[in-house]
Amino acid sequence: MPVTGPTGTAPLLQMALRVEHDIFVVRQRGREVAAAVGLEHQDQVRIATALSEVARDLLRAVGGADVTFALADDAVHGRRHLRVDLAPVRPLPDDRYEPQSGAVARLVDKLGVVTGEGDTVVRMSRRVPVTAAALTPERLAELRSELGRNAPGSALDELAAQNAQLIAALDEVRSQRDELAVLNEELAETNRGVMALYNQLTEELEETNRGVVALYAELDEKSAQLRAASESKSRFLANVSHELRAPVTAIIGLGRLLDDSASDPLTTEQARQVGLIRSSASDLLTLVNELLDLAKAESGRIEPDWAEIDLRPVFGQLRGTLRALATRPGVELVVEEPPAPATLRTDEVLLAQVLRNLLHNGIKFTEHGEVRLRAERRDDQWSLTVSDTGAGIPPELHGRIFEEFYQVPGATRIGGTGLGLPYARRLVTLLGGSLLVSSEPGRGSTFTVTLPVGGA
Ligand code: ADP
Repeated sequence: MPVTGPTGTAPLLQMALRVEHDIFVVRQRGREVAAAVGLEHQDQVRIATALSEVARDLLRAVGGADVTFALADDAVHGRRHLRVDLAPVRPLPDDRYEPQSGAVARLVDKLGVVTGEGDTVVRMSRRVPVTAAALTPERLAELRSELGRNAPGSALDELAAQNAQLIAALDEVRSQRDELAVLNEELAETNRGVMALYNQLTEELEETNRGVVALYAELDEKSAQLRAASESKSRFLANVSHELRAPVTAIIGLGRLLDDSASDPLTTEQARQVGLIRSSASDLLTLVNELLDLAKAESGRIEPDWAEIDLRPVFGQLRGTLRALATRPGVELVVEEPPAPATLRTDEVLLAQVLRNLLHNGIKFTEHGEVRLRAERRDDQWSLTVSDTGAGIPPELHGRIFEEFYQVPGATRIGGTGLGLPYARRLVTLLGGSLLVSSEPGRGSTFTVTLPVGGA
């Protein structure tokens, strides 16, 4: 008698396994029952194969078994299983009898010997997929009678079915192999693409590198040319201005002699003309001197004389000397007292020259208001600002006023050479600082000299 299962077990079919031919029948019926309860094709073949293996084993070992197919509900997970019990006709050789190899056991979910109430069965089961149609009691009854009606086919039929399954399995293996080959080919293709891209990128990188190297070489050459041009310009300016200084000084001296009261008296007209000669010559001398200064600064021939200085006496001196220039009645020159300790490491003469230049410009270009010099210390820097309430400079010309000979249009009538600011900036750079301007037309200008407290 077969072992009765847990609640929910519904036997579907029973049959006897006694002779070799029954193995085929068990296999065939196994597949039919599996299909009927909704197992997928692969699972039908699996359970049928496991069944025929176990059946063959039991036939040899104990001479046969009673086979029961049933549907069982898993009490824990509530899942439905197709269960096949094979009750041996004689006791199994010993308790440790294991009718299955590992490979066979893997074909089903469970396979093992089960003992209960004196009966021992070999039991295998396979889960019915959740997608399978629900089996109502009516449908189960129908299945039972269908399965009972179906006459088992011959061994040959089952062999043919088994062959067909083998061919299908082989086909599947072949198509998987073909897919693998296609994938491999695609991978090789991708690899070739990646390599080509990599090569192309490497080439482009090398090309770019060559371009950059060439550009740098050109840049080096250009800056060498520029340096050479600038040096020869400075040399030319220095030579020319030096050569010009002597004759211009002579003209000024001769003019003074002619004008001297000890010399023969000049007619009014002659005196006026000599006066013109003298003032032109002295303008010329200013220009020549400025040119010479600039050329010297540019060619690096000015060596700052570094010393720890006090800004207060420097400011005091500027206040004294420039007051004489600030002759316009509506313009006040204010030189603020620098905050103590007003010390700084720099070249006093060069710094005074820069500040004088900026103050002089302020006085020149301011008609009303004031020109102010003030010093402010921030951390390790001094800010010396010269601000005025004069004409101001349009923002787009802030860079140009530091170019040699550049004068803002309209400023020329005020006089000057256009060399003061480039020279001042040169000197400040030599002193390790910077010279910047901020200005708006009609609102005045502020020139800021920033210098490191400890020198360059
Ligand atoms: P210069 O004063 O001899 O003309 P600079 O190099 O000192 O030459 O100045 C260049 C130009 O910058 C000046 O001609 C003038 O147009 C402008 N500039 C300089 N300082 C001021 C200022 N404080 N206010 C207005 N314009 C100025």
